[in-house]
Parts: sequence; structure tokens; C-alpha cells
Amino acid sequence: MPNINNSLRAAADQFGTPLYVYDATIITRQYNKLKSAFSGHKTRFFYACKALSNVAILRHIHGLGSGLDCVSINEVRLGLHAGFLPENILFTPNSVTFEELVEAKELGVNLNIDNISLLERFGATFGGSYPVCVRLNPHIEAGGNYKIQTGHIDSKFGISIHQLRHLERVVKGTGLHVKGLHMHTGSEIKDVGVFLRSLEILFDAAGRFPELDFLDLGSGFKVPYKPGDPETDVATLGQQVAQAFQTFEKEYGRPLECWFEPGKYLVSESGYLLVNVAVVKQTTATVFAGVNSGFNHLIRPMFYDSYHHISNLTNPKGSERLYTVVGNICETDTFAWDRLLPEIHENDLLAFHNAGAYGFEMSSSFNSRTRPAEVLLQEDGELRLIRKRQTFEDLLAGQVDVVAEVPAQPA
Ligand SMILES: *Cc1c(COP(=O)(O)O)cnc(C)c1O
Repeated sequence: MPNINNSLRAAADQFGTPLYVYDATIITRQYNKLKSAFSGHKTRFFYACKALSNVAILRHIHGLGSGLDCVSINEVRLGLHAGFLPENILFTPNSVTFEELVEAKELGVNLNIDNISLLERFGATFGGSYPVCVRLNPHIEAGGNYKIQTGHIDSKFGISIHQLRHLERVVKGTGLHVKGLHMHTGSEIKDVGVFLRSLEILFDAAGRFPELDFLDLGSGFKVPYKPGDPETDVATLGQQVAQAFQTFEKEYGRPLECWFEPGKYLVSESGYLLVNVAVVKQTTATVFAGVNSGFNHLIRPMFYDSYHHISNLTNPKGSERLYTVVGNICETDTFAWDRLLPEIHENDLLAFHNAGAYGFEMSSSFNSRTRPAEVLLQEDGELRLIRKRQTFEDLLAGQVDVVAEVPAQPA
């Protein structure tokens, strides 16, 4: 098996930069870690594909035995296209119209409804003919960054646990069947206790819904970004979740599956954004390394203040110097501030690590710069192009040129 740095250099040679590369072996490793951690209780995983939705990635994850969590009707369509069966897809949208919910119902997928008004309308229209899952908001503050916290009191997600009585009335009044309860409190939660507290809250709520098949704990597993960063201890969590379920099932009187929706945990570490250094600029105070990419390709540092480890693949053993690594977007566009890196020269190849989740997926063509290509490093070591680089023609595609002739300019 070739060393990852050699594969990354080969990918850059073959496909050019900027380039996203995903290592399938890492995705498999992460999935297997979860699977063995939760082997003590019947657990199902639904990959949250908003993290990275390339069809080749979806197929790989399907092959591992995972289901799929989708937040838009097009993600549902992508999942079906990639080969997921409707019963292995969970649709967990927020702020969607009733029509979008019905479209998903017609595709036969599991519905996770997070709003009382939608639930009431769904129940009034379909009664108990199509069992649903309900997304609750436990009002637990958790997660790495306010923008990615979803459980707090001001969050738009879920039905408040303080509205359980109202929820119960709607369910009874419409004859809806509730087959699952769901919670997702945020992203990058390293504390196992947060998940266990959510689970206790779900157990409390479950008493009001006698027909449940599963409880869904969402996701938010943390992965290390900086060297030495912790990862959520899924092995410990798995043991404690299994124990808690065993005790609760006795009280509840029927078996309950445990569901999770890992996104970042499965794909973050698999991904690299490869860039070349366009310029090295020494100003009065700073040495900038300006690369042929920007926040239009990887927005996480600018949007979430996230840390991405950087390696210099051209000069890995160079003596370390301090750099501020910036992109080419005409706005403050900084990937890393004051970072110690092996000496950088123009045209060096750099890799941003942990770029698999919310990297390409949140990219845009801001500044009329094209989106990068994507490559899969297969488990057999082969590099496969899984998305072509956007072209100038792609930027024009879809535009309607209503002024057919180029107007003359005033003299
Ligand atoms: C985004 C999301 C996830 C995945 O979160 P990660 O932090 O990437 O694991 C899971 N479930 C739902 C409902 C989500 O919106």
C-alpha cells in the first residue's frame, strides 16, 4: 500500500490542483470503529450525507452497510440514485414545506418531522397510514461552535421537550403512529455524557409513545483536527448506551433500536484539499503563503474558525517558519494564521487535512473561480476521478443571456 503522501502527490500530478482527495480506507476504518463500539445493542447508522454527498462516496458508504440521513429532497434523490433502499433512508429536514415532506413520503423513506404544524397537517392528511419519527429539542447546549449547536433554547430545530403534552395531543387527535424519537444536539461533541443525557431525555419522552421502534441520537461525534485533539470516545459511549437501553427496554416493554447519523465522523479525516502555492509574500509584519484556492473551496476556517492541519508535501523536511496561509478570494481569506510550516517556496504542494466533511460540499464559484475536482483513493490504492473540475463554460451554463448583442458603450 503506497504511503498517503505519495498518493496525494500522484493525485496532484495526475489531476492538477486545487483538488479534493478522499481516502476510502479511512471512511471504512471510521465506520468499523462505530460498528464495533455499538455492537452491544442493535444499532443502525445513517450517514449524514450533507457532509459529503459525491455519489461515489455514497456508494462506498452504502457498501459498508450504512443507511443515509438526508436533509433535502435532492439528498433523498441522490441516495436513491446511489442505491440506498428507501427504508434505509431517513429524511430529517428543517423549515421545509408540506409538499417537500409529501414528496419524500411518496419516495417511501423514513420521515423525521421537527415541527408541530407540519406534524398536525401530516396526521390530518395521512392519519396512521405512514408512521413517522419526531425530532425533539432537548435544550442541551453542546458542540464546538455556536453556529453548529442545534439543541439550545434559541435553536430552530426540533419540537421542544416542553411541548410534549401538545405533541401528544396532536398524535392522539390525528391517529398518527410515532415509530421513533430523534435528537441531534450539535456537532463536535467530545463529552460522552452529553449523549447519555440526551438519551435519558429520550427515555423520559418515550413513555408517552407506546409504539416506538427506535430512538435516534443524531450525531455530533468529534474528530481530532489539531494533533493531540480528542476524538469522541465511541467505545465507552457504546458500552454505556447498550447498558442504558437494556435497562430501559425492560421498563418500556419492547425492544428499541438505537440509531445514529454520523457525518463528520465518517468522512472528515478521509479528505484532503490539495493546493499549490502561487506566491510567497513578505510584508512588513507577516510572511504570507498565497495558494491557488480560497474560502470558496474550503470555508470552514473563515466560517467556523476551524483549524485544519497543513502539510507541505513538496518540502516536508524543510526547517520550520511562521506563515499565514491565505487564499485568492478578494476578501480576507485566511486558512491559517501564524502557522509553523516547513519552509514554503512558490509552487509547493500543500495539503489541508480533515477536509472531507463540509469541504467540497460547502464550496462555491465565488469570484467566478471554478469548483475543484474530486478524486477517490480506493482501498486498492487506485486514484479515481469522481467529479470533474468545473470549467469556464460551466459558469455560463444556465445563465440566460437576454441581451443578445453586446451593447455599444456611450461615447
Ligand atoms: C448535520 C447533521 C448530522 C451530522 O452531524 P456531524 O456533526 O457531521 O456528524 C446528523 N444529523 C442531522 C439531523 C444533521 O443535520
